[in-house]
Amino acid sequence: MKSHHLTWVEIDARALRSNLQQLRKLVGREVLLAAVVKANAYGHGIDVISPLALEAGADWLAVYSLEEGLRLRKIGLQCPILLLGYVQLADIQKMVQNDLRLTVFNAETLAELAKVTGKLNRDVQVHLKVETGMNRQGVLPEHLPHVLSLLQRSEHILLEGLCSQLATAEEPDDPTYVRFQTEIFRRAVAEIEGRGVRVPVKHLLNTAGTFLLEEVRFNMVRVGISMYGLWPSDQTRRACLERAIGPGHLAPVMTWKTKVIQVKEIPAGSHISYGGTFHTTRPTRLAVLPIGYSDGYDWRLSNKGHVLIRGKRAPVLGRVTMNATMVDATDVHGVQLEDEVVLLGQQGEQRISADELADLLGTINYEVVAGINRAIPRVVVNREAPRGAGPGLEDERVRPLLSEG
Ligand SMILES: *Cc1c(COP(=O)(O)O)cnc(C)c1O
Repeated sequence: MKSHHLTWVEIDARALRSNLQQLRKLVGREVLLAAVVKANAYGHGIDVISPLALEAGADWLAVYSLEEGLRLRKIGLQCPILLLGYVQLADIQKMVQNDLRLTVFNAETLAELAKVTGKLNRDVQVHLKVETGMNRQGVLPEHLPHVLSLLQRSEHILLEGLCSQLATAEEPDDPTYVRFQTEIFRRAVAEIEGRGVRVPVKHLLNTAGTFLLEEVRFNMVRVGISMYGLWPSDQTRRACLERAIGPGHLAPVMTWKTKVIQVKEIPAGSHISYGGTFHTTRPTRLAVLPIGYSDGYDWRLSNKGHVLIRGKRAPVLGRVTMNATMVDATDVHGVQLEDEVVLLGQQGEQRISADELADLLGTINYEVVAGINRAIPRVVVNREAPRGAGPGLEDERVRPLLSEG
């Protein structure tokens, strides 16, 4: 049974569940797990990932924008949702009405929240972000007393959380800056609690911090990349291995697929794609793929990337174009029109990992997956079948058995 899509992303529900179960085992029952599903769930599809993450044990969802938060409400999710980013003052009312929690780092936002919640006679939970050294979003420690006084003036603004973000958790070889930031965060907590303000939820850690800094997990962690089965950095992976901490194994959740749209034999000495940057030196069997940089298949993979066809690696020949890419299928035995192609993920014994593509591109795995065009369909596979029913029909892993018969 073939997919009816031409290009699509498969989301392995079993892998996602396994990653979240490992994260839960790591942090225990007492620590809240906030699954970060910003940027279209790191390119995995916010609509499909979010409910699966909750089923697999995530307590909260965290997104960046108001639009993402509204999307989660629209698809019917009722869990706590934390917005990590900025909400314009004109949109604060909409945010409150949709029961979204807000990360606050501006006095102006608090003033607007006070006005809106007073008018609506409705509470809002906020998480105060402290600037500890990332120098992105956060209230400078010296401004905390002022911001706290603003907070306390409104009975409807509930200070639910205190948070910050580490700049170098992914680089454990040198822990100096992590210690520096952690100390500032601890002092901010002490300062606020010293004023008799109880803050129920404190959170500082992303994936790398969650793995490596057990002593500052407080009572919530915000995990993104590891839930998707990817390591935040090679240093993090090595440090976990050396110290025997962190998850034993992470299972990549995404497989990005397309199909061959033309197969043709071209002679030696042919030029391929724009600019003629690749010249064949042998008679070559070319496979054309309907995938290009507008889909998120990076132009810089021109003459560099590989894809998988029939379990074999096929190199990209010439430039990636807006909607199409050519690969060398000379050594792919029996390649045919509409053969399934893996751009990222596993096929047979071979795997193209997000890390491999990131290395080729001089970027990080986060950017590779987050850059996949959101218009491409996300399809869930390996959903838990009802007990005794065997694998579901939508289960892609049963397809080879069905089609090879
Ligand atoms: C994206 C993000 C995270 C998740 O980071 P990962 O490294 O993907 O786990 C956590 N906290 C904040 C504030 C973020 O923006």
